Amino acid sequence: MSGVPHRNSQKTFYLETFGCQMNVHDSEKVIGTLLHEGYRQVETVEEADLILYNTCSIRDKAEQKVFHRLADYKKLQAQGKKFGVLGCVAQQEGEKIFERAPHVSLVCGSASYRKLPEMLVQLEAGQLEAERLAAAQREAEILEAGKARDSGLAARDSLIRITGLDDRQTDECFETELTARTNPYRGYIIIIDGCDKFCSYCVVPYTRGKVRSRTAESVLAEARQMADLGYSEIQLLGQNVNSYKDPTGDLRKKKTFAELLAAVGEVPGIRRVRFTTSHPRDFGRDIVEAIDAVPTLCDHVHLPVQSGSTRVLDAMQRLYNREQYLERIAWIKAAKRDISITTDVIVGFPGETEADFEETLRLLEDVGYDAVFAFKYSPRPNTPSLSLEDAIPDEEKARRLEVVMARQREIQIQRYKKYVGATVEVMVEGYNAPREQWIGRTSQNKTLNFTAAVGEGVADGRSSTTSKATDKPALSAGSGQALSEVEGCVRLTQAGSECGPKVGSYTSVRVTASFPNSLVGEMMV
Ligand code: SAM
Ligand code: SF4
Repeated sequence: MSGVPHRNSQKTFYLETFGCQMNVHDSEKVIGTLLHEGYRQVETVEEADLILYNTCSIRDKAEQKVFHRLADYKKLQAQGKKFGVLGCVAQQEGEKIFERAPHVSLVCGSASYRKLPEMLVQLEAGQLEAERLAAAQREAEILEAGKARDSGLAARDSLIRITGLDDRQTDECFETELTARTNPYRGYIIIIDGCDKFCSYCVVPYTRGKVRSRTAESVLAEARQMADLGYSEIQLLGQNVNSYKDPTGDLRKKKTFAELLAAVGEVPGIRRVRFTTSHPRDFGRDIVEAIDAVPTLCDHVHLPVQSGSTRVLDAMQRLYNREQYLERIAWIKAAKRDISITTDVIVGFPGETEADFEETLRLLEDVGYDAVFAFKYSPRPNTPSLSLEDAIPDEEKARRLEVVMARQREIQIQRYKKYVGATVEVMVEGYNAPREQWIGRTSQNKTLNFTAAVGEGVADGRSSTTSKATDKPALSAGSGQALSEVEGCVRLTQAGSECGPKVGSYTSVRVTASFPNSLVGEMMV
């Protein structure tokens, strides 16, 4: 993070983020931008002048959450607080948000974030003008004292309507020097944004705009900068990270995704590189070869299948069939390293028959995933599948979701058992004080909670977590759960100087027991 406040240092903001890792990282950039503009970040809406929600509209539930949040805090408008809606709901609903939540002053899609500084200036100017107008009206209204306050507020509302919604055709990614990364050891880099695949159920192409990649050169420069700042793990992000296409015209510097992956893995100081999400259509053997060749690339591929039925995959416009998907799985399984495979599944897509659903269940068995993120199909605005017939009732979607979860749980029990007795390296992520266990993450992205004989250890800052990190879900029910949300369970808080492994360090742990979603072990001394 960089940037010295240069203006308006009293202004405060509160930002809440919903959705995927892309949104989490966008928020880090928005926070950096606001800090640079002289705002100070606060922990509660009550303390804030400006309240921002970075939103997700991938499923209806996620979208509704935002409107509930806005309704909950509407009353704070009377205190002069301003509200802004950023991200996918902002892009999808646009100016309709002002009708549904008239206390909102700023609506900005992710493709317009680079204009945020200008929009903040407009917001502040609008606020000043509104306050001036309200004061003038109050004076003039001495005769009708009762009406004065209402008309002043109405004038203020109608003045501040700022939108950033026009840039979905942009060729640029939001690159900024001002990123305020929240984790000091592991950081994200978005290498490709937007999506042109137009799966029939998905809002992303409409909310994040057309696909655009950063140059490998700029990605590598950021990776080196992060390594210099002490980051040891980098996660490369994109809606479809492996659809990456280096836009540089310089053929000597141009890299494929697999080459970029390898190059980031070779940056001195970087010990782990992850990447998500991979689209099966663009998943080449060269990615597996890169993982085999470069030890810092993690042993994990997240490859969403969505359905095991070719008929449903066609209706979803997924651009691959069951056999092609399984071919990619075979490449991954043929690797020299033991690569963990995880996936996303949608149940209850319109027209999904019991036979189609059975094919998905069989696919779970055939592949043997280490985690499945399962979702009930949620009809979304603008998407082609909205007009498909044969909608599946919600109870049936819920039943299918439960069946998927139960089947996957059995698979994971067997798969996680295999690691008992093995010694694996973890990155230490925190400390669970009530359980007296450190929380680690393996290269395969598994949670490994472990004990360590302290006393003779190195005196270090120990961190505690507010989560009950006993068996964090690697599969999820209900509305589904994304990887970022799972990781988001762990909140690190410094708990003083104690003996034990340092958060952010790497250590070897012997696995002594397994749960369906996590491993348990003892640190090796
Ligand atoms: N680009 C990735 C891919 O193609 O696999 C997926 C990115 S999407 C943001 C994350 C996941 O949300 C998808 O894999 C899918 O399982 C789920 N999803 C997207 N749209 C959905 C919808 N309308 N209903 C339910 N789940 C949905
Ligand atoms: Fe959505 Fe499909 Fe693009 Fe993934 S590939 S972001 S599911 S449209």
